[in-house]
Amino acid sequence: MVLDRLRVFLQRRKIDAILITQPENRRYISGYTGHDVSIAESSGVLLVPATGRPFLFTDSRYLLQAEAEAAEFQVELYSKGLLALLKKKLPLLSVKRLGFESHYLLHATAAKLSSLADKLGIELMPLSDVIEGFRVKKSAEEIEKIRQAVQLNEEVFQKVFKELRPGQTERQVALKIETLMRKKGADGPSFDTIVAAGPNGALPHAVPTNRPIQEGEPVIIDMGLKINGYCSDMTRTVVCGAPDTKTKKLFRIVRKAQLAGMKAIKAGVTARDADGTARKIISNAGFGDRFGHGLGHGVGLAVHEAPSVNFRSRKKLRAGMVVTVEPGIYIPGWGGIRLENMVVVTGNGFELLNRDTTFLDL
Ligand code: ZN
Ligand code: ZN
Repeated sequence: MVLDRLRVFLQRRKIDAILITQPENRRYISGYTGHDVSIAESSGVLLVPATGRPFLFTDSRYLLQAEAEAAEFQVELYSKGLLALLKKKLPLLSVKRLGFESHYLLHATAAKLSSLADKLGIELMPLSDVIEGFRVKKSAEEIEKIRQAVQLNEEVFQKVFKELRPGQTERQVALKIETLMRKKGADGPSFDTIVAAGPNGALPHAVPTNRPIQEGEPVIIDMGLKINGYCSDMTRTVVCGAPDTKTKKLFRIVRKAQLAGMKAIKAGVTARDADGTARKIISNAGFGDRFGHGLGHGVGLAVHEAPSVNFRSRKKLRAGMVVTVEPGIYIPGWGGIRLENMVVVTGNGFELLNRDTTFLDL
């Protein structure tokens, strides 16, 4: 079905075929789950013509997997490299206008593609975020997969939270989280787990250290996992022992902002209005300059994807989008508080995917 949607797009734009290089887009369109070592070492590239059978080009390491997973695609090996294969294939398919993902191709590859296109008399059409645009509204089936990921995420968090003690290091806690994810059946973490205690919590994307967690300090745990390719992303800020007055005060502000942010979410509302509703609460409390990032982001096959829910985006939220709501306050030298839930945007509001309420109400 998504393949048909792509073909219709190509036909409307009078593009004969598109090369798909972005890994989540490749999976979304073909079902092929190969992992790229890096952008310079891809596990496969799709060539989807506006009509006829689509192709998946890969190397021998991925052949069996590609054939098993991408049943609608003709799998071919590029033993002499992608460009050499395209040189043969594009004239055979009578491609005159070739689309490519301009936001996900190395400049060096694009330069080679461009010189090949010149030789073959092909016009290159740089396309950006086309399939990302298809991915933004989730189907019921996708939402179900995301729901499963959120549920497992919470199970893992609960176990680790119950066993959290002063003296455990940030790294030990992060390792335990990621081990449990895999034990409980996740594909793996959807990003490097963040465990940031005390002053480390002032860095929104902190890397866990060997510093032992101390009693009374806020600990930010931001974790996500993947199941069937779909991601979860959740943050809780917790304390071993009793939180002090400052922690409680900041915590209440962030929670109030989160509740207001969730309430503002509804199809038709602009992303920046939803962000603004939460941001105002933090600003009015005097911490506006301590909340530097956006309120949230889309989650799906990628842990960060469209739409961005921030103060710059005039785009409207639409029913079926899945976004995070994650305000925070970060104070250099002291630490931070961040709370993150995931919601589905609906016609008249939102559906909260999280059930976990650990430490949300101080
Ligand atoms: Zn997160
Ligand atoms: Zn997030």
